[in-house]
Formats: sequence, C-alpha cells, structure tokens
Amino acid sequence: MVVANIWYTIIMFFNLFNSDTPVHMREIKLFNTETGKLEIFEPYNDKEVRVYTCGPTVYDYAHIGNLRSYVFSDILKRVLIKNGYQVKHTINYTDFGHLTDDADAGEDKMMKGLKREGLPVSLDAMRQLSDKFIKAFDDDLEELHVIPPTTWARASDYIKKQISLIKTLEEKGFTYETSDGLYFDISKFPKYGRLGKINLDKLKSGARVEVNSDKKHPADFAVWKKGELGWNSRWGKGFPGWHVECSAMAIATLGKQIDIHTGGIDHISTHHNAEIAQSEAATGKTFAKYWMHNAFITIDNTKVSKSLGNTITMRHLMDRGFSGDDYRYWLLTAHYRSTTNFSWDALKGAKQALFRLKRHMYEEFKQKTSTPDSDYLEKFDTYLANDLDTPAAIALMWDMLKDDKLSDTTKCGTLMAMDEVLDIGLSDNLYEGVRSLGVVAADDLPADIQELIDRREAARIARNWAEADMLRDAIKLKGFELEDTTHGPKVTKAE
Ligand code: AMP
Ligand code: ZN
Repeated sequence: MVVANIWYTIIMFFNLFNSDTPVHMREIKLFNTETGKLEIFEPYNDKEVRVYTCGPTVYDYAHIGNLRSYVFSDILKRVLIKNGYQVKHTINYTDFGHLTDDADAGEDKMMKGLKREGLPVSLDAMRQLSDKFIKAFDDDLEELHVIPPTTWARASDYIKKQISLIKTLEEKGFTYETSDGLYFDISKFPKYGRLGKINLDKLKSGARVEVNSDKKHPADFAVWKKGELGWNSRWGKGFPGWHVECSAMAIATLGKQIDIHTGGIDHISTHHNAEIAQSEAATGKTFAKYWMHNAFITIDNTKVSKSLGNTITMRHLMDRGFSGDDYRYWLLTAHYRSTTNFSWDALKGAKQALFRLKRHMYEEFKQKTSTPDSDYLEKFDTYLANDLDTPAAIALMWDMLKDDKLSDTTKCGTLMAMDEVLDIGLSDNLYEGVRSLGVVAADDLPADIQELIDRREAARIARNWAEADMLRDAIKLKGFELEDTTHGPKVTKAE
C-alpha cells in the first residue's frame, strides 16, 4: 500500500506540473456497456479523467466478488495514469437505504445488519454499524493494494445534496408521490433503460403486481422512501432511494458529466439506468460517457452473493494463508469482463506462480535493476490499453522472464515497471521481499505439517489457546516455525 501510494503521489505530482501539455502515451480502448463496443477513450477534458465507482453497502464484510470491482477500477485508474492522465476518482459507501432487491422491494440491508449485530434501529446505530464495515472494507482494499480514491463519499454525509437533487426532479415534473414515497416516472424520460437495452414492455407484462401496486410502471423507482427512520424532508420522514445517492454524489464530487462510471454487471439494468435517468433529467446533460462493468466471480458456477450465503471474504483467504497479493494476482489472470470461477485450488495455483515470480525478483535478481526492456514494456502497456487485458499482460511478463536475450538486471527493471500497474508485490523493498520468501509455499509443506497447521488454525479460531500452543510446539519439533501475521499464519523452515 505504501509503495502504491508513493508511486501514485509521484505520478500525480508530475502530472500536476506538466498539466499544460498533457502527453498521452497511447490510444486506450475501453468496452462501453452502453454501445456494446470497444471504443477509443476520449475524455471530456484532456487533462483530467473523472471516474465514479459504485461502492459497497457497508452492512457486512465485502466478499471476494465485490472486491473484484475495486481491483478492476484500480487497474483502470493505473492504466489511465500510466498513459498521462490525471484521475479524479470517487467511490461511495452506501450506509443506508439499499434494499435486498434493487427494484424497491425486499429488506433494507442496513436493517438486516442492525438485527444481526443486535443493535437498535436508529441513525446512530446505523452509523456505528457502517463504521465497523467501512474500516473492514478499507483494510481489504489496502491488503489488495488498491489506490484510495480521491474522494470517499459516504451516503449519509450527502443527504442535503440528495434532497436537493430530488427537489429538482420534482420541480421538473419527473416524479409522482405515492403512499410510501416519491417515485421517478420513467414515462417522462423516454431514453430510460438504454443501458443493457432493457425491454420495458416485457418488464411490464412480467411484473409482480403485489410488489408495489402504487407504481405506474414496474421500472419506476423510489427517489424518496417514507419511513419511521431517516431524515426530514418535504415528502415526510424517510430516506433517499438508493439510486439517488450515486447520482448526487457523483455530481457533487465530480461534476455533472463524468468520463467513466464503473460497477458490477448486476448494476446495469436497474441501478445504473436509474442513475442515468435521475442525473440526466436533473442536469439536461449526458451523465457518463463510458459505462464499464466487471463480470461476476462465481463459486461452483454460482454468483458469490451475501444473499445466497456462499460468500468468502478477504479474512477467509488470509486465514488460509493467502495474501492480498495472491488474490490480486489470481484476479488479474482473468479479464475483468469474464465470469471467473473461484476455487481454492485455483488460488493455490496463483499463489505458487506468484511465489515463483517473487523468487526471481528477490532471490535470483536480488532486485538489482537496470533500464526496463522497452519492447516488452511497450507491448505490456499496449495490452493493458486494450480494454485492460491483464491476462495477456501477465502472460507476456512470463515470456519476458524466459527470454535469454535479456540480462537479469533488465528483467528485474522490466518486472518493476510492470508492477507499477499490476502491484502484486514485486516492487516491495528487498528486505520485505526476501522475508516473504522465507515462507514455505502452501504446496511445498509436508502433509503432516499442513494438517497440524490446519488443526492449530481451528484451535485458534475456537480460542482454544492451550491446544493452539501445543500444536505450535509440535510443528516446531518437526522443524518448522509458525508466525501469526496479518496475512495469516506464515510458515518458515526452522534454522
Ligand atoms: P454491493 O455492496 O452489493 O453494492 O456490491 C459492491 C460491488 O460488487 C458492486 O459493483 C457489485 O456489482 C459488485 N458485485 C457484487 N457481487 C459480485 C460478484 N459475485 N462478482 C463480482 N462483482 C460483484
Ligand atoms: Zn451506484
């Protein structure tokens, strides 16, 4: 993280003082969900790119699927920076008002969280709940080397902005009131549903009438929900509809027109179409120029989802001895637009590959570096500029390592330069790097040691400290040292 931040600061500093003549290194192509095509990236303003990323609903730990969204937007940001752009980036924290069903039905996720944690139903308790999961989410992103956005926008800090946006929509005639809230009337916004080409007629004929009989059209969505809990407004007590927060905070932090909006594909049909409708109805301007969406992470080919109860979190990965670098590397071996199935074996394979890369870097090259090879680097950057093709970039990195024509110092320099975008732990300082190599890779452990480690982890999780200590001693007797770190247990061969 520290490395990532320093690097980012240097680039931003450099860009700032050279901002009169932006030099963009190469043409960037991005897949725009709105047109369904790869498009050449041309921002509104040549000097600064404005990116908005839909953030997490902070009622629980983020799962490994959610985390893909932020590694994806991180790579996007680094590629833009690498190509000479300054990037202004906002990610939000949804800390109220997101129902389990995006179309105004289901239970409020924050309420669900309050119940689970045994907290009272109050705004203060909601804040307390979200504080806890915001901290956990920030830790996850740090572990994954995601550069923090320019602005973290917390929805409950932007209530006035949201109310003012809703007022504008009402004054311009885009809303109607019902017994339970204020709704956006999509019939007033003929371009509704252009993202993902939603078939509104089909939606109407297939609608569940019992969901909300007051709505004129099933795709109309709440911009204000009346309720016992919330804030006061001219529509009664309650809270802004979930979609409003992203429109209001994107406009407040980045302006009326943004260059790129990112999120997971599940947000295309409802959340992002609603964002477009609200923002464009209010400002009269095109909201986002490029819409980019990451595909799902699945487990057993089923979407990872809190509601399906099949979630794995960063903590689960770390408890099994995997680091943020390992998961980041695994994610980057797949393209962000490919549905990717998670398995422990696949992650183990990624960990071993990364271990070998680090061994080259820290053991073989001892991080002695010279100028990167320009041909490989150019090819690498060109792959990334082609809709963030990280799998091709990583394959090239391995080809480069095998190339006998390059010296070790050139290979090392090239790896370091590649790590500016990948940030998978190849440019840590030598001491840290060597230290991490002392660790025995998960698959190099003898089966009996692995079994003892697993038993000790189970004892530790059950807070059975006496048994955990006994097992640590047993491991030591067999010649291995065990150290508990924030990355999970680290195993080294005892000297
Ligand atoms: P949420 O907290 O549910 O709003 O989700 C945060 C981000 O994670 C959103 O951009 C979602 O689209 C994305 N997301 C949710 N589930 C998955 C998944 N299984 N794989 C990839 N992205 C996901
Ligand atoms: Zn959003």
